[in-house]
Amino acid sequence: MASVLIALGGNVGDVRTTFAKAIAHICGMAQAAVIARSSDYTTPPWGDEDQDPFVNACVEIETDLDPHALLFVMQKVEQKFGRTRTKDRRWGPRTLDLDMIAYDDVSMAKPDLTLPHPRLFERAFVLVPLAEIAPDRVISGIRVRDGLASVSTQGIERLSDTG
Ligand code: ATP
Ligand code: CA
Ligand code: CA
Repeated sequence: MASVLIALGGNVGDVRTTFAKAIAHICGMAQAAVIARSSDYTTPPWGDEDQDPFVNACVEIETDLDPHALLFVMQKVEQKFGRTRTKDRRWGPRTLDLDMIAYDDVSMAKPDLTLPHPRLFERAFVLVPLAEIAPDRVISGIRVRDGLASVSTQGIERLSDTG
């Protein structure tokens, strides 16, 4: 079994409900189990600031799928929840974005899949939820908690648990 960290994001529709359903779909399609799930956070938009705030979270799953097979599943789930990749502007509004942050200690740079995710340590919106579930995980030689300590978390707020 591989341990995989997935970052979830979205700012269109009922994002928190979408997250819950998306995680269930990933687990069903990837025969994966959830090992840990962070809280949801509201975060300021990044990269393209002219849009609504995002909701972000991270989840750790265990699966036997290889990285590309899992990426395929994640893209299917994005599509199921209305993600239209062609219409989307880069880093623009979306119903659901699923990024593979790390897959065990696999390191690869293929056109369609880079592992670990190359922009992880620039992104407080990923590091905050990730540090909640995997503070001691070392990714690209950096401990998650140390990565978090070196970014600004301004504007990021934990959302209360929903029923
Ligand atoms: P960013 O990658 O900066 O977070 P994004 O999530 O908005 O940007 P997308 O349009 O969702 O970008 O994805 C663009 C492509 O990135 C996808 O088609 C996918 O093949 C590729 N990709 C490369 N590495 C990864 C990864 N680790 N997780 C998810 N997608 C990846
Ligand atoms: Ca992304
Ligand atoms: Ca993505």
